[in-house]
Amino acid sequence: MQLIFEKSSSGRQGYSLPKSDVPKADSLPGKYCRVTQANLPEVSELDVVRHFSALARLNFSVDTNFYPLGSCTMKYNPKFTEKIAALEGFSSPHPLVPQLSGGGILAQGSLEVLYHMERLLSEITGMAAFTMQPLAGAHGELTGVMLISAYHKSNGSRRKHIIIPDSSHGTNPASAAIAGYDVVVIPTDKSGSFDMELYKKALNNETAAVMLTCPDTLGLFNPKIKEIADLAHRVGALMYYDGANLNAILGKCRPGDIGFDVVHLNLHKTFATPHGGGGPGAGPVGVSGKLIDFLPISRVAKKDDGTYFLDYQNRKTIGYIAPFYGNFAVILKAYAYILALGREGLIEASENAVLNANYCLSRLRDYFDLPFDKICMHECVFSASRQLQNGVHALDIAKYLIDKGFHPPTIYFPLIVKEAMMIEPTETESKETLDNFIEAMIEASKLSEENPQILHSAPLTMPVKRLDETRAAREPNLRWKP
Ligand SMILES: *Cc1c(COP(=O)(O)O)cnc(C)c1O
Repeated sequence: MQLIFEKSSSGRQGYSLPKSDVPKADSLPGKYCRVTQANLPEVSELDVVRHFSALARLNFSVDTNFYPLGSCTMKYNPKFTEKIAALEGFSSPHPLVPQLSGGGILAQGSLEVLYHMERLLSEITGMAAFTMQPLAGAHGELTGVMLISAYHKSNGSRRKHIIIPDSSHGTNPASAAIAGYDVVVIPTDKSGSFDMELYKKALNNETAAVMLTCPDTLGLFNPKIKEIADLAHRVGALMYYDGANLNAILGKCRPGDIGFDVVHLNLHKTFATPHGGGGPGAGPVGVSGKLIDFLPISRVAKKDDGTYFLDYQNRKTIGYIAPFYGNFAVILKAYAYILALGREGLIEASENAVLNANYCLSRLRDYFDLPFDKICMHECVFSASRQLQNGVHALDIAKYLIDKGFHPPTIYFPLIVKEAMMIEPTETESKETLDNFIEAMIEASKLSEENPQILHSAPLTMPVKRLDETRAAREPNLRWKP
């Protein structure tokens, strides 16, 4: 594809503005004046429209194609939530409106959304309270670990490490480390389970918390979770639930009932708000009763007369985690989604997410190695190690799927599976779509034996083929030069 600079033709103009009637300023200091040409492309308006329309068609999204990217929950985001987020009363108030009007008179509707959403998420997860501030899942993790740290400090207890299984999401150890803790990793045993013996050895009165991604990145839910929580509490450690993918368990079990003290959710995964390209997201954090006093300020509270206000009185608060109230529009969209689905709808969403993943698992199990052969939750993890015997890597299969119109599954993650391919179909896909994807995967597996060259040369349908991804990240060359 040509760059817009390459479409430039000297003297061609794209604008049609009237002559400016603003007098030219001549007081601008010389050092601020341009001395070289800006070298902007000289193109017509139609050139620009066609150029960007062509680029837009190259975009890949859930709205255009199937996107089974494991751990990312790329489900369809219903459009009515966009309409609600765009409502004048929600989209136009300035975030300082509540303070200016002495108690939030002009923002009662927005405050009510935040207040009610906190109640809904508490009910769904079995936690006592939530903060809506964190702007992403990893940001929620950092907030959660900071809450844990503040809790231990206020009890005069000095704790040094956080226990994390190697099947956790990569952000878990990163968040624990950024919050100042050492990370003690518990390996997954041969059956795909958390090694209880090593866990018991690692656990002691220096353990600040045990941080579990549930289900883990193998798509498996730990059956010993209650025992793990009880052991942790016995030594005074807290339990952290990474609930980014709560879509696996909605209405089935609640982290709070199992004994978790902190949970973060990814509204931009589980509760169907758009994500990708770095956000925006929302990673609300729920806590058990003993951590409420440490939650970030401000908190939305309700007066006896039924009106809402911002409460800054949380004495032991860890402070602000994000400006104002988090990504309000994202929270609002997720709120609308929860209300639209209701209790039954959320349960059905989880059931279908798990059903779809198990359908993929059972139809592909004869073609790809299954490192841990168990019923999965919302995603399943295969390995391309069988295909590797013919020189075909997970990467080759991923590139081939692009030619077939599918986003590849997550590959090479989790790290504990060689040639990993992590498929998360989500509940919003039809059986026909899953069947088409499965057929493409089966074709890839057959080609790996019959004609691996086709897989090695994929993708053939894209404007660029295989990039040197390391160089692209290390030496980004994003600037056009004449
Ligand atoms: C996506 C994800 C995260 C991180 O969420 P971000 O919003 O990308 O920061 C953390 N844990 C799990 C299990 C995830 O799937």
